[in-house]
Amino acid sequence: MKRLDILGAISEEPDRLTRQFAGEAMRRAHDAVAEWMREAGMVVRHDNIDNLRGRYDSDPTGKPTLIIGSHLDTVRDAGRYDGPLGVMVAIAAVQRLHDLEKSMPFAIEVIAFADEEGLRFSSTYLGSRAVAGTFDTADLDRTDDNGMTMAEAIVTFGGDPTRIGEDRWQGGKLLGYVEVHIEQGPVLEGLRLPVGVVTAIAGQARFRITFTGSAGHAGTVPMRGRRDALAAAAEFVLAVEAEAASHEGLVATVGQLSVYPGASNVIPGEAVLSLDVRHPDERVRIENTRQILGRAREIASRRGVETATQPLSENSSVPCSADLQSLLAKAIEAGGLAPIHLASGAGHDAVPMSELTDVAMLFVRCKGGVSHNPAESVTAEDVSVSIDVLSRFLELLAEA
Ligand SMILES: [Zn+2]
Repeated sequence: MKRLDILGAISEEPDRLTRQFAGEAMRRAHDAVAEWMREAGMVVRHDNIDNLRGRYDSDPTGKPTLIIGSHLDTVRDAGRYDGPLGVMVAIAAVQRLHDLEKSMPFAIEVIAFADEEGLRFSSTYLGSRAVAGTFDTADLDRTDDNGMTMAEAIVTFGGDPTRIGEDRWQGGKLLGYVEVHIEQGPVLEGLRLPVGVVTAIAGQARFRITFTGSAGHAGTVPMRGRRDALAAAAEFVLAVEAEAASHEGLVATVGQLSVYPGASNVIPGEAVLSLDVRHPDERVRIENTRQILGRAREIASRRGVETATQPLSENSSVPCSADLQSLLAKAIEAGGLAPIHLASGAGHDAVPMSELTDVAMLFVRCKGGVSHNPAESVTAEDVSVSIDVLSRFLELLAEA
């Protein structure tokens, strides 16, 4: 908890926590975390995308590796646990092995990923995609708010953008990737449990939806016969909410809405909105998305306006490994707690890592389910439980 407080104070901004990819605050965070990794007996290196990697070797060497990780970057005005908690818990678990002078029949590599939130370059998962071998080199041309390209930022930090391909996992056989993370939701708090095993990371689809009617004078065009694009969009927003509320596990959100021409005395001629739909079960997500998009067409045709749907992005759901889930559940039970399973509505580094190896996640209860907010909060007791569970998980994996 003290280390999380130290990291929470390492920021680019004086009065709030903001730590971007390859920024000056990230350098200071790396200095601190690298020192803690070394204290825990790890050999530390920076890779080319600027992930910080600590390796605790197996005895004898040459055995398979388990990767444990999370990210050190934050959103703007962040809390101190989303990301860094997973890195600190991993280091603490390795520290216990080191203190006992215990070697495992597998190597452990703790990776503090360089960028998960994508704040600086509006990107996703830069660090974990480099390790998974799915980094898109076209991203190197992206620029930040100051016009600096990603390639320049990496060079400034000490990395080498031309060699990111070498960050791809080259350490031989992997046993999997495990990530400890705050839940960012209210489920564990509701169940009064400190930790839970993640079953899957929800798939997600994003769309831009346009309603086009006809603009007109707010005073002279009678109500009957109006083709009000915003009224159609408003009806659709409520339909999205109702559809999601009536299907277990489905979440759907309209987070952006633009109205044109956007004057108080003009009937809206066009309304453009965003739609984000998520569900851990691929089939359910796809079927419900189809239904929601059908509602847009139905509302538009009833109101005499046009609608168009533009798909922006789609990520399949990522199931967590059944074997690793069961080891985490056993590790929780061994501590006398109920091994609850729950899905993740948010994306994590485990998503790109799933293209490289089996993945598993352990969620830690957070106060009020609040995240991406300075009010983010976990208790020392819950963090202690998560370290115990991860340590037992390592023992169970060694026996498996
Ligand atoms: Zn996170």
